[in-house]
Amino acid sequence: MSIETNPDFWDCECEYDYIHNKKESDYCWDCNTSHEEQPDSREIEVQWMKKMKKIEITEYMCNPHVFLLEEFIKAQTIDVHGNVLPIEECQLLDDEISSLRDLMIGESMDLGEPEAGLTVKRVA
Ligand SMILES: [Zn+2]
Repeated sequence: MSIETNPDFWDCECEYDYIHNKKESDYCWDCNTSHEEQPDSREIEVQWMKKMKKIEITEYMCNPHVFLLEEFIKAQTIDVHGNVLPIEECQLLDDEISSLRDLMIGESMDLGEPEAGLTVKRVA
């Protein structure tokens, strides 16, 4: 049985946080390995890591709050009963969701109407 790997990610030799996005880093300074010499990451671990992405939401005049990215997206697109919200009630647009998922660590973006003063920064 072959193991499914994801060509966009690679594993370094660190014990923790060993999955790297090739777009973000091709070298790990902690264990001195580069993606050239290391294997691609397992798809299942990449999926798991994506679920662990964290974002910091800052609303106008409020203290920032940290959320798991996928939980934040889910909370914006379903109601309290778990039903998918109709398009007109969705607080997030599809292109905003995909930009959120593409954010690199440390990068930030504005969300929604500019007057809302809502910014999102990826922190992990
Ligand atoms: Zn490493």
